Amino acid sequence: MEKGCVFCRIVNAKTSTKILYQTENLVVFKDIHPQAPVHLLVVPRKHIRSINDLTAEDLTIVSEMIMAAKKMAEAHTVSKSGYKLFFNVERGGGQLIFHLHMHLIGGWH
Ligand code: AMP
Ligand code: ZN
Repeated sequence: MEKGCVFCRIVNAKTSTKILYQTENLVVFKDIHPQAPVHLLVVPRKHIRSINDLTAEDLTIVSEMIMAAKKMAEAHTVSKSGYKLFFNVERGGGQLIFHLHMHLIGGWH
């Protein structure tokens, strides 16, 4: 757990954030400032700063993140209408929280 990291606190259940889905390697919760009717964050339990810091040993985690997003899209009934999955990478890419996370947004249609 990285000191001062808000997502480390959330994945370790140190906050009141409602966890929608979790596995051994990741958790999913709602974004606090949603940019779309459905806006979820898929967050690995492991503290990884950004996409730039991924290594080959993290491949399983990243694959699981995509599969969890697919499952969550189905659960939130946006699978068929469609959704976006994205990572903001470092400050110039809009990253504000330096603990890896994938955004799932959708629900416009
Ligand atoms: P990024 O700009 O990719 O780093 O995205 C960080 C996201 O985390 C933003 O969309 C924030 O609204 C969201 N966020 C920040 N703090 C929290 C929190 N405590 N719970 C849920 N979402 C959060
Ligand atoms: Zn962290």
